[in-house]
Amino acid sequence: MNTANGTNSANSVNALWHNHAHMPTMPGREHRIVRGAGAYVYDDAGRELLDVPAGLWFANVGHGRAEIADAVHRQLSELATYPVFGDFCNPRAEELADRIAGLVPVEDAKVFFTSGGSEALEAAVKLVRRYWQLTGEPARQTVITREGGYHGLHGFGTSIVGVPAFREGFGALLPGALTVPAMDLAALEAAILAHGPDRIAAFLCEPVIAGGAGVVPPADGYLTGAQELCREHGIVFMLDEVVTGFGRAGSMFAAERYGLRPDIMLLAKGLTSGYLPLGAAVAGGRVAEAFWAPGSPHVFQHGLTYSGHASACAAALANLDILEREDLVGRVRSREGRLLEALLPLREHPLVADVRGGTGLMAAVALRGHDVAEEVAHAVVNEGMLMRVTGGDALQISPPFVIGDEDIDRIPVAISAALSRVS
Ligand code: PLP
Repeated sequence: MNTANGTNSANSVNALWHNHAHMPTMPGREHRIVRGAGAYVYDDAGRELLDVPAGLWFANVGHGRAEIADAVHRQLSELATYPVFGDFCNPRAEELADRIAGLVPVEDAKVFFTSGGSEALEAAVKLVRRYWQLTGEPARQTVITREGGYHGLHGFGTSIVGVPAFREGFGALLPGALTVPAMDLAALEAAILAHGPDRIAAFLCEPVIAGGAGVVPPADGYLTGAQELCREHGIVFMLDEVVTGFGRAGSMFAAERYGLRPDIMLLAKGLTSGYLPLGAAVAGGRVAEAFWAPGSPHVFQHGLTYSGHASACAAALANLDILEREDLVGRVRSREGRLLEALLPLREHPLVADVRGGTGLMAAVALRGHDVAEEVAHAVVNEGMLMRVTGGDALQISPPFVIGDEDIDRIPVAISAALSRVS
């Protein structure tokens, strides 16, 4: 019904469509977060909650950083943004691209900005397919990914996601996806040989599988072995560091920790610590050269209105300043053992199936089934913590890097208390 001021009152209530949520049963279940400070958030009931998942793996430098807000305010007041499109660009995007290129273990890196991780994946897959077209191997179109892998849910992301439930029910998906078991090098090699290396464009993986399978660190030697197989067969090696990039895995990039030099790297989340949406596909010289070499006639025909959004780039630059000045990556590395040791005793509980972690501030407490996990995540709010379920049945433990030691120690205590409420 239209009211006098032109709004449609019938549509103005409960119109917010939650991602991955059952909407008919949503009214009354909404958990509204209204404020954040450091490692804590506050809900609309006034409760202070330790932000154990750091939102969706992003609040790395912690909430409420005035320095980032000020940098964004300055940029918004000067110029909200100007597109990085055709000849146009803006200085914040140039500055941030150079800063990223100087940080990543990617040779001669070129940075294509997006609005988030899913878009970074789409850009990277188009880029790599175009690269093969231009270099005379157009049959190379397949992208190999891993079971449990997650790289966003846009068109190609949905086609390749290693979680079947996210792929089903959408009709025909984009061709060119091949999924292999997550930690099995022999299976990867067999898939490459069976499919034909000359039909494979890229291998894509997360160094530590995050949300799709609920934090699975790599088996010893798996990632370097996969990288070698890629080199051997000319396959582009794409590393998704959307979660692990900028310190989460205990080094600036997980690639450094595991001795990897990817041809393409995907970034988002920790790039701005979530202060504004921003992602990037970073291409090394091998791929970028087709478009950047002097005399190349080729244009990468891909574009986004908000690529290199100046205010988001300003947030990222201020975020990186904080990360470096406070040595937050060192802090993550020095706390990873403490976090895992604190969580391991939970394995004794009959409702706990597994505790995984040990790679930076990334861990998971897998419970015996999805329903138990949801119940515990719900109950733990009474212990002053916010948690979420990841990988179907696991509690995601990925706190902001600024978490205090006593708060690390409180996490298993809160989970134990919540477990005794549900068991
Ligand atoms: N890649 C990984 C490893 C992710 O965990 C995610 C999101 O959780 C994405 C890509 C997609 O990023 P976004 O949600 O910003 O589109």
